[in-house]
Amino acid sequence: MTGIDYQQTLRQAAAVLEDMRGLIDAALSHLKAATLVDGRVAAAQLDAHQLACYELAVSWAECTAADFLLKHAERVRTRDAAPDPLPAGLAAVFCAEVVMNCAGRLRARPRDFGVGEAQVSAALGSPAAHAFLEPQLAAAHLESVGAEVAARAGDLGPDLLGEHHSMMRDTFGRFADEVVAPLAEQIHREDLIIPEAILAPLREMGMFGLSIPESYGGLQEDGREDTLGMIVVTEELSRGSLGAAGSLITRPEILSRALLKGGTEAQKQHWLPLVAQGEPLCAVAVTEPNYGSDVAGVRLRATPAEGGWLLNGAKTWCTFGGKAGLLLVLARTEPDLALAHRGLSMFLVEKPASDSHDFEVPQDGGGRLTGRAIATIGYRGMHSFELFFDDFFVPAENMLGGDAGRGQGFYYAMAGFAGGRIQTAARAVGLMRAAFARAISYAGERVVFNHAIADYQLTRVKLARMAALLLACRQMTYEVARQMDEGGGDMAASAVKLFACKTAEWLTREALQIHGGMGYAEESPVSRYFADARVLSIFEGAEETLALKVIARALVEKAA
Ligand SMILES: Cc1cc2nc3c(=O)[nH]c(=O)nc-3n(C[C@H](O)[C@H](O)[C@H](O)COP(=O)(O)OP(=O)(O)OC[C@H]3O[C@@H](n4cnc5c(N)ncnc54)[C@H](O)[C@@H]3O)c2cc1C
Repeated sequence: MTGIDYQQTLRQAAAVLEDMRGLIDAALSHLKAATLVDGRVAAAQLDAHQLACYELAVSWAECTAADFLLKHAERVRTRDAAPDPLPAGLAAVFCAEVVMNCAGRLRARPRDFGVGEAQVSAALGSPAAHAFLEPQLAAAHLESVGAEVAARAGDLGPDLLGEHHSMMRDTFGRFADEVVAPLAEQIHREDLIIPEAILAPLREMGMFGLSIPESYGGLQEDGREDTLGMIVVTEELSRGSLGAAGSLITRPEILSRALLKGGTEAQKQHWLPLVAQGEPLCAVAVTEPNYGSDVAGVRLRATPAEGGWLLNGAKTWCTFGGKAGLLLVLARTEPDLALAHRGLSMFLVEKPASDSHDFEVPQDGGGRLTGRAIATIGYRGMHSFELFFDDFFVPAENMLGGDAGRGQGFYYAMAGFAGGRIQTAARAVGLMRAAFARAISYAGERVVFNHAIADYQLTRVKLARMAALLLACRQMTYEVARQMDEGGGDMAASAVKLFACKTAEWLTREALQIHGGMGYAEESPVSRYFADARVLSIFEGAEETLALKVIARALVEKAA
């Protein structure tokens, strides 16, 4: 990696990436023309082009990650007199691989994308593009980057977090190493509920109030969002365990964003300080057995009753639904199904906390709420519940937003999910860091055919790719968090969620693969990382739904 002019390399990378973006824009315009009905992009037409939409959404997410990584590398390069060359080296490799991935997709389906071989070849085959791509993709170069990554024991250079966020990272990172990691294996293998040994100190550290303004009892400075702080903490805790710590913030994050958007002042004053203290713990009940991705369709009925509402129906996958004392429940208050998402309202449902895999909450008036934990292959520690509401009474004051909130539940849920998406990207990054660290250390120790496996070219190339992808996901997550703090970043939050979660599956797979048979043993933490990573692309917006309904739709609508 020595003797390379990184200023020039980064400039070349940016130029090649821009050319690729031009081709993607052309494909989006083509898709727009194919999906317009009466001058508007029609949902049914988009559905007729799902493959093209999906591939363009993924390509756009990858190019955006590459942009962010290039900016990060440039900041590192210009900050120090003797800059660390690794971020620039990784950024260049990442850009080259992204450009080739995108080109492969465009080349495979010229009819669908409206971009011909001549255009792709012109972009990739120019002398300038060739001068960048050929050396970056050469096996010997990838091998040398991987050797450097291994020699540095996975240190990917400065993360450029400011003092405040570095302090948060160090504090919660220590907690993850000293408290969470030693308990994580037992929680996973025995399917235990997260113990007070983890919850109590996190309450004291203020973790449950990270996204709640100070004036409502949280840690966030009033009038100034700190999404970046929330995701730095999430990343560190997820490094310790996805199920036993890193996902604890998701629920208060979603609930507090929904409350801040739609709650009455009295509801905010009452609930936010309690949520910030982690007493009660909370859970989110949106998904139903027949409605997951299609949130607008949910059917759980809320019918008016004396002083409140009666809930009837089923929810599923309500994570932490047993331990939680407060459930955020999306229900249909308007019987007219034609109202679709406008017939939904959000309720704050109180219940006693339970550590068990089954629970039952009977009410004096005959109502009942029962729950049963669903056995899962990973993501253990919080337990995800099927819930059955049977004439379960909820007081009128617990409808989010009061009378004005009736019919607004879908919008409150969406406000909550924007925070959940970026938070899930940070969970993926934390999990990848844990897997990457194990992969590097095992590759250095394990001797096969008389050599450590880290000495082989193929292992080094894997480590180089893992490092580049990890750094890209991490820096993209940070950058999108900053954008969200400035009031933007909604679409980018979906893109980074899509990209980081898919990447976590690949990276944990490779980390396990490097361990050979040992990786498949339950006693190896990498087997847990692999099982845990699999859920990331399913919840907080399934991969396909985000790609098709959020990212591709927005990109096509915006296309020229
Ligand atoms: C461990 C775990 C924890 C969870 N925790 C919670 C929680 O706390 N609260 C909560 O409310 N929910 C939770 N969920 C539910 C989660 O949000 C849903 O599983 C998710 O939204 C997907 O819904 P579904 O399972 O019904 O899948 P479906 O909607 O049935 O989708 C099945 C598949 O079809 C794809 N698909 C969907 N629509 C389309 C389309 N138009 N075109 C092409 N493909 C499509 C999906 O992407 C997916 O791959 C959790 C899930 C899991 C697994």
